[in-house]
Amino acid sequence: MSIMMPEADQAVLARRTEIAAALRAIVPGEGVIDSAAEMLAYESDGLTAYRQPPMVVVLPDTTEQVAKVLKYCQQQGIKVVPRGSGTSLSGGALPLADGVLLGLGKFKRIREIDFDNRVVVTEPGVTNLAISQAVAHAGFYYAPDPSSQIACSIGGNVAENSGGVHCLKYGMTTNNVLGCEIVLMSGEILRIGGKSAENAGYDLMGIITGSEGLLGVITEITVRILQKPETARALMVGFAEVEAAGECVAAIIGAGIIPGGMEMMDKPAIHAAEAFVHAGYPLDVEALLIIELDGPQVEVDELIKRVEAIAQGCGSTSCQISTSEAERNLFWAGRKAAFPAVGRISPDYLCMDGTIPRGALPKALARIRELSEKYGLGVANVFHAGDGNLHPLILYDANKPGEIEKAEAFGADILRCCVELGGVLTGEHGVGIEKRDLMPEMFTEIDLNQQQRLKCAFDAEGLLNPGKVFPTLHRCAELGRVHVHAGKLAFPDIPRF
Ligand SMILES: Cc1cc2nc3c(=O)[nH]c(=O)nc-3n(C[C@H](O)[C@H](O)[C@H](O)COP(=O)(O)OP(=O)(O)OC[C@H]3O[C@@H](n4cnc5c(N)ncnc54)[C@H](O)[C@@H]3O)c2cc1C
Repeated sequence: MSIMMPEADQAVLARRTEIAAALRAIVPGEGVIDSAAEMLAYESDGLTAYRQPPMVVVLPDTTEQVAKVLKYCQQQGIKVVPRGSGTSLSGGALPLADGVLLGLGKFKRIREIDFDNRVVVTEPGVTNLAISQAVAHAGFYYAPDPSSQIACSIGGNVAENSGGVHCLKYGMTTNNVLGCEIVLMSGEILRIGGKSAENAGYDLMGIITGSEGLLGVITEITVRILQKPETARALMVGFAEVEAAGECVAAIIGAGIIPGGMEMMDKPAIHAAEAFVHAGYPLDVEALLIIELDGPQVEVDELIKRVEAIAQGCGSTSCQISTSEAERNLFWAGRKAAFPAVGRISPDYLCMDGTIPRGALPKALARIRELSEKYGLGVANVFHAGDGNLHPLILYDANKPGEIEKAEAFGADILRCCVELGGVLTGEHGVGIEKRDLMPEMFTEIDLNQQQRLKCAFDAEGLLNPGKVFPTLHRCAELGRVHVHAGKLAFPDIPRF
């Protein structure tokens, strides 16, 4: 994949000082950063292979300030990149050289906890985990739990439609948000949904969720909270073959059992996680399933027996069942730390994110192994197995010439394979810049044009997060007629490290 971004507008860049001064008038105090040294902190997100300092950073802390910043930028024709905590793995929050980076880090307040309606109204900069922590005393929690939950913001979760190990049973972010306040590029403030699950009109919340910062800036979110299940226990099941573990996943779902979470790791991932976290993972297996069953005690006891029997039928070689909350958390600790654990065994890794129908898991794994040999690069596999969401971590060394290009080509082939197997290009990490140029593998030109018409309805000048998600930029007025492949929007390479 070669990553190209819109060419910097030199006229806008020449006005940097003037633009910073205008933003300071809107966001006084320390809300505007334009020193090169301080802006380094914002030059990349979780896709660290790509870096680009922004023209200026603005950190508003009220919706009114966001509205004024966006209105000013629209009037001046300035691009804007929204940013939450900057943990995106697809480059969605990568700045633009001639763009304002609008950070939501100061939106840190939980505005309301409403146990009667089982919702929390929160600002977008609050971390995912902080929402669960805020309601834990009453036995509630917020279900979607990305592994990055200690750091990622709920605004970023909505923008990426993030998932986590418990999304198999409780749904992705889109199933757990009820409403939001969003500021359009024009500065208009739109309120969508609310505390109720039913809303009249188009499902605009569904459109905003997963919109990757291209439609508006989210300044408030209403999320659903759930009561913690009476019991949760986890099984750690080992297999001598990855394919057998894949079959076990399909058999459990096929038996009508929906576990609270069902995750798989292959041998390299198991070894890396065990060395890092010491979770007690068996090291003599090729694949490990962690299966969590939750609900009333009697139901969980019964389900454990059924899952154990299914696993044995699929040839499991070991099975350990958590006997305490501490042990259950330990089983998960290794899985949740799998990405940083792999970071300890390889100088660099590329985390891919594709989805396949569950039944295709063994085929996908076999193909990934073939590709690993073809490219001569190692791979550690971590999956949200129940959802068919793959996270192959491709191991490479950026200091070796040509290795990052090889890793990217390997990753692109994995995603093509997901589409061929009837899956999709992304499970939960978004398209961003990482998968943007692969969008035509999955969508026709008609599909992509229609998606861009939707973008045009929110942001006709294409100023919000341009260069992300869509492989070709079209001018709104001309969509469906002449295709304008840039001209002014020619794409030079962006610096990569
Ligand atoms: C170690 C690690 C583990 C991870 N594990 C998971 C996982 O299990 N599941 C998962 O889904 N993801 C995971 N991720 C990816 C990442 O954490 C999620 O995509 C997360 O939702 C990003 O949130 P953020 O606040 O960091 O957003 P950012 O990275 O700042 O931004 C992400 C995108 O959202 C847009 N955006 C951010 N805030 C707003 C806003 N308020 N309004 C409009 N647009 C906005 C940005 O423009 C960008 O396009 C992981 C990342 C890491 C580094």
